[in-house]
Amino acid sequence: MAVPTLDHPAQLLDRADDIKTTNHAEFVKILGRLDQDAANLPADQQWLLRYLDAWQQAFDGDYARAGVALKTIAEQAPDAALRLRATATLINIFGFGHRYEEAFVQLNRMGDLMPLASDKQARFDAMSEATQFLVIAGQYELAGEYAEQMFQNIPPGKTACRPSYFKLHALFHSGKSRVTRAQFQQAIDLCTQGGESLIANAMLSDMATFDIEEGRAAVATRLLEEHYPEVEGYRYPALMEYFNVLLARGYLKLGDVARARKFALATIASAIKDEYSEPLRQTYELLYRLEAQQGNARAALDYHEKYMAADKAHLSDIGAGALAYQTVKQQLLANRMQVDTLAKQNRILQLQRALDLKAVETSRLYIALLLTVLASITLLFLRLKRSQMRFMRLATQDSLTGISSRQHFVDATEQALRLAARTTRCACLILMDLDHFKQVNDTYGHVTGDLVLKRAVAACQQHLGPRDLFGRLGGEEFAILMPDCSAAQARERAERLRQAISATPLWGETRNVVISASFGVASTDRSGYELRQLMIDADNALYCAKRDGRDRVVYGDSDDAASASRDGVCEHVPPADVMDLPPFSKSTG
Ligand code: GH3
Ligand code: MG
Ligand code: MG
Repeated sequence: MAVPTLDHPAQLLDRADDIKTTNHAEFVKILGRLDQDAANLPADQQWLLRYLDAWQQAFDGDYARAGVALKTIAEQAPDAALRLRATATLINIFGFGHRYEEAFVQLNRMGDLMPLASDKQARFDAMSEATQFLVIAGQYELAGEYAEQMFQNIPPGKTACRPSYFKLHALFHSGKSRVTRAQFQQAIDLCTQGGESLIANAMLSDMATFDIEEGRAAVATRLLEEHYPEVEGYRYPALMEYFNVLLARGYLKLGDVARARKFALATIASAIKDEYSEPLRQTYELLYRLEAQQGNARAALDYHEKYMAADKAHLSDIGAGALAYQTVKQQLLANRMQVDTLAKQNRILQLQRALDLKAVETSRLYIALLLTVLASITLLFLRLKRSQMRFMRLATQDSLTGISSRQHFVDATEQALRLAARTTRCACLILMDLDHFKQVNDTYGHVTGDLVLKRAVAACQQHLGPRDLFGRLGGEEFAILMPDCSAAQARERAERLRQAISATPLWGETRNVVISASFGVASTDRSGYELRQLMIDADNALYCAKRDGRDRVVYGDSDDAASASRDGVCEHVPPADVMDLPPFSKSTG
């Protein structure tokens, strides 16, 4: 087959990668060529070449050098797929070197890397290496699970050779379930057809073991001899050791001591220096038995010692594998628990924060509620105050005309009279009653009557001073207290009020109404400072005004009124109390 030239290093790299195990000799040749020109390759190709070099070192059994190079690639290569492949190869060599704990650590790393690598082939190869390691570490059950996963991940153009081999290998070595020769043969055929002769030969070594154990040593040795040159060509010590020891065992079974010894010694020669292996253990046992059989006590003792050491290493190796598996498993579990704890702490912190936020929200709600309550109370207070003011106004003011109510007028007048009495100043009380007001109502209606009342009041207010007290006693009856006012002044001012009412400009609905009022005047000079007496005297005067034809002012005292009553012209019934009765029972109809 023509080897691609150096003009296409990428193609050369791919080719080398492809034939690592199927055409190892060519692989080594290509690698040698690429290594000479490594410095001129682009970065990604340099990384791949580094990996292939390391793989070759591992293949040669130089695990120390390979390990260093692979670790760098596994940690630093920019391509995730290459990192994955380097990790898988590391697992493989740690496994062969019985460094189980490191291998399990890498196995876990591989699990993390797996989803990052989109290259299906790289994933498949990585699983393949991992499965192989698990077999070496004696974790057959797990190896079987990995092999099953491999079946699900066969890359395009590849056969089920490897998963079949691993599955069968794990099954055979676990010793748990029975394997048939046909199964081995089937797997070998599959691998041979797929061009994977190294795997086919590895499978063959399992089948040979099986044959020897089943008493078919002749078949086993014939098959092994047949493929021996091919396996030698791989320059793969691990497999070579197995072929040698199996041939030694087979020939011993067949009684061919010379050949048995020859292949046993070949096993020792092919073994990796300073490395313990299962074939080596079997070889020392075989040589010790063989020499003992032959009566070579000295040599037998020598091999026995070596066998014992190898067996001890074997036993401790089995233990080490299981221990490492458990150790790493526990570490993983601890890590996961730590992550879980952190996650829980994080959750608690989140809850705490949510709770704090809720608390803030709640206090905000309380504040809002408090403010609302406060606002409601303020509003209620303001309303209360307003209605209180309204009641106050209602109590002191007449709702229709806006002047003092009867009660308020009486209170204010009594106070003013007390002051006047103390200072002995004269004050006058004027009572005013609209004339024929009933007719106004009857003719124009109550609404017009109300308007007339308002306009009459407004007309009077024009002629009142700030100290005068003006009140509505009821209906169309009003009273005015004038402090600091003589009787003459009061008559004169009452006259002005009378004229003002007569001249009240009426418009709109009231334009046709004609009004006038009658006035009765009393003064403290004649009646004294008692409101009751002032009222009686003013009322009598008013009665006289009405009697004399209305629209006039009359000033008189109790004597006048009494005489008027005696004349029988006026019906004079003085009220028992000013406040109890309508004040002008005599003057009003
Ligand atoms: P006189 O000249 O003798 O005083 O006759 P008068 O019709 O004015 O007297 P009378 O006492 O017979 O009638 C008073 C009327 O005043 C009766 C009532 O209908 C009316 N009146 C009392 N209060 C109000 C009020 O607030 N509004 C209106 N529109 N009428 C009222
Ligand atoms: Mg009247
Ligand atoms: Mg009246």
